[in-house]
Amino acid sequence: MSKLIITCAITGSRIQKNETPYIPITPEEIAESAIGAVKAGASVIHIHVRDPHTHIGTQDRKLYERVLTLLRKEVDPVVCLSTSGVPGKNLDYQKRLIPLELKTEMVSFDAGSMNFGEAVFLNPPDFLELLAQKAKEYDVKLELECFHTGMISASLEMMKTGLIEKPLHFQFVLGVRGGAPATVPSLLSMVQMIPEDATWSVIGIGKSQLAMTMAGMVLEGHVRVGLEDNIYYSKGRLAKSNAELVERIVRIAGEYGRDIATPDEARQILGLKSKRKSV
Ligand code: ZN
Repeated sequence: MSKLIITCAITGSRIQKNETPYIPITPEEIAESAIGAVKAGASVIHIHVRDPHTHIGTQDRKLYERVLTLLRKEVDPVVCLSTSGVPGKNLDYQKRLIPLELKTEMVSFDAGSMNFGEAVFLNPPDFLELLAQKAKEYDVKLELECFHTGMISASLEMMKTGLIEKPLHFQFVLGVRGGAPATVPSLLSMVQMIPEDATWSVIGIGKSQLAMTMAGMVLEGHVRVGLEDNIYYSKGRLAKSNAELVERIVRIAGEYGRDIATPDEARQILGLKSKRKSV
């Protein structure tokens, strides 16, 4: 079994303090929460930043830079910045592409459009082509976020035309209303579609987070946890930090006998060595 890469999604773009007081909003809070998650065992950190007034996700370059500076003072995880904007809000393409200029090793790539709860999450083909081209230009690896099997097919087509470079890394997102259900058969149907040399990780949204991460661990994939995807530790009990969610997966992996990847081991597994930039 390869070592387990734990990605932690620190804050996302939507959850507000009135839903959980533990959601980090300011760059300082986001960095502190990410540092805690890395110290707990996360090797990849997925970052959004929030508008200081509305607290909704934004693609403000300065906020991203502030988080990265604070984070890198203490830890050196693989960083995957978000290019998703906010589902339901039409952030312009250029703003969504800003993370590529920040020289991290990865950015997210939402591989198609869909209904997303009450919102519509727009990722039109021309935006995806632009994002893939820019990622090549900046030598940044794409994390292919697939919310249903159609998005996997679309990613594979882009690989065939050379727009997305191998080896591919998929992040299967299960349990969003409008996307694939968070069940083991659903996860398996996705895993079976991807090339042998691809790597994959799984996200279970909300109460499915624990079950999906355990399934991902056993199926020899990798896993993502974090407050972006799930604010509860257990029924009715809020998670007090991102680190708390990471610590639980580390404990379960320990009992199961799967070692946790360090950031450098994650770089090796994801084929990121050549993308290492001086920070
Ligand atoms: Zn995200």
